Amino acid sequence: MTFAQLGTGVSKGIAIGPVHILYHDSLEIPEYALPEKFIPDEQTRYTAAIILARKQLHDILKQIPANTPPDIAEFIDTHLLMLNDSTLAKVPLQIIAKQQCNAEWALKLQRDALVRVFDEMEDPYLRTRKDDVDHVVNTIQRILLNSPMHHGANPEQEQPHSGHILVTDDLSPADTVLMQHQGIAAFITESGGPTSHTAILARSLGIPAIIGLHRARERLRDDETIILDGQQGWILANPDDRSLQFYHQKRRQEHLRYLDSIKNKDQPAVTLDGHTIKLMANIELTSDIHAVHEIGAQGIGLYRTEFLFMNRTSPPGEEEQFKTYKGVIDKLDGKLLTIRTIDLGADKQVDRNRHQSSSATTNPALGLRAIRLCLKEPALFLPQICAILRASAYGPVRILLPMLSNINELKLILELIKDVKTKLSAQGIPYDNDIAIGGMIEVPAAAITARMFLEYLDFLSIGTNDLIQYTLAIDRIDEEVNYLYDPLNPAVLHLIALSIEAGKLWDKPVGLCGEMAADPRFTRILLGLGLTEFSMHASNLPAIKQVINNSTLSSLTTLTNEIMQTTNYEEFLTCLNHFQYT
Ligand code: PEP
Ligand code: MG
Repeated sequence: MTFAQLGTGVSKGIAIGPVHILYHDSLEIPEYALPEKFIPDEQTRYTAAIILARKQLHDILKQIPANTPPDIAEFIDTHLLMLNDSTLAKVPLQIIAKQQCNAEWALKLQRDALVRVFDEMEDPYLRTRKDDVDHVVNTIQRILLNSPMHHGANPEQEQPHSGHILVTDDLSPADTVLMQHQGIAAFITESGGPTSHTAILARSLGIPAIIGLHRARERLRDDETIILDGQQGWILANPDDRSLQFYHQKRRQEHLRYLDSIKNKDQPAVTLDGHTIKLMANIELTSDIHAVHEIGAQGIGLYRTEFLFMNRTSPPGEEEQFKTYKGVIDKLDGKLLTIRTIDLGADKQVDRNRHQSSSATTNPALGLRAIRLCLKEPALFLPQICAILRASAYGPVRILLPMLSNINELKLILELIKDVKTKLSAQGIPYDNDIAIGGMIEVPAAAITARMFLEYLDFLSIGTNDLIQYTLAIDRIDEEVNYLYDPLNPAVLHLIALSIEAGKLWDKPVGLCGEMAADPRFTRILLGLGLTEFSMHASNLPAIKQVINNSTLSSLTTLTNEIMQTTNYEEFLTCLNHFQYT
């Protein structure tokens, strides 16, 4: 039977192929007492499981192709480190002996103890390690229980073949890499958030993906053909011949358009009436830089550095960060790099934080994150500032501060940066003394008072992902309220307008780096509001350039003035229609 189902598209592209269903059933952990004489054998069984788990991870590492970003292999390295650590390699052996219990139960007790410690930690960075513990513990448990994650209705069924569309409950980043290597055409998960590592990796690895497709495994069957649209977030199961033909053709057209856009990469984004618009790229992984050049982005408008800090046993030190940032600068061949300081905390790991400290549990997005966290934990922040400043001696760099809401907080941060500069100067270490420091406009308070913030900053970057969440009081990763997440809500547009006006007042640049910049439906209204710098994932850039190159700024400005002045919502909606780009 043909049917369509909608989830959340997190990585664009059309995939057509047979379904491969993957189950990670939750494990029943048995508990039983052991006579003393069996304890050494049980300990040997546990150690053998650890050795096999290490071998499995090493096998995955070996299978990762050479051109896979190093950040991805690091996820697996972290899990290997955990397997080597005495908390998992040795303590369960002591529990087996002390409690005279089976290995699975000893591991469960140790896992619970570790998770309790993580839950009590103040430091959100360390709290995020809990997911890694669970992932590693699960691997060992499956080996002990002789229960591999199984595929389809038949556990003996083989791994997905090249071209299959994987359907599962959730995927870890390490599994995502492995599945990409096995050549999956796309994946669907029943749960997960759009800001999860897996979703972000899917975009970076170019795998079309949909998350939050409820009960997909019940509704789909192994080997039935589906069409998946990773941008719109829908699938069509058992499509008829006409639909198949249509989407095969659409996919070919998309590919041709992409090849065409690469050909035009050096063509600037200029409106029909001659206004040049700057198009920059957002990056998460250092490997994204390849696409930045391929697509002709003018620089990096947002480098989300928090990904460097995730899925590891300890945060990267100053030296490691310096090398990473310098590596990015070297690869950019003189293009501008905007390094956002870490935006760790609450909403980046929402699924995990639901189990965290009381303030994070009740309202994670309003909690201790980004520069709030950096002020509270200078030991986390200062090495990053030092590394960025040192890297700035090697190419054009800007510093971008996330989650500004309060000018006093900004002044404290600027003082810290000044102190680091003084120290570097005293040590004779080179850096760009005129490095531009900008702020993200993500909180309505910052948008409303952008003109005051700009007294202290060199540029602004509007982060609509959070600005919309905070303005409309909608958790950006909560599927239940996603339907209210509206970039065209008049309140959002007025806040964007205020931020852009503040830039004009101070004659300082204002860009936009939220997902709104990447969506051609919004390009014309943003142009009309006076936006001159867009930053987005590189793959979206050609489509945005095409809209810009076919728009007349003067008429969009007139239309925008009208829409921003109306006091009538129906009139507002009617005016919006004029911005459509076909
Ligand atoms: C934003 O909030 O729009 C943004 C770009 O930051 P992030 O998505 O990383 O929160
Ligand atoms: Mg944000």
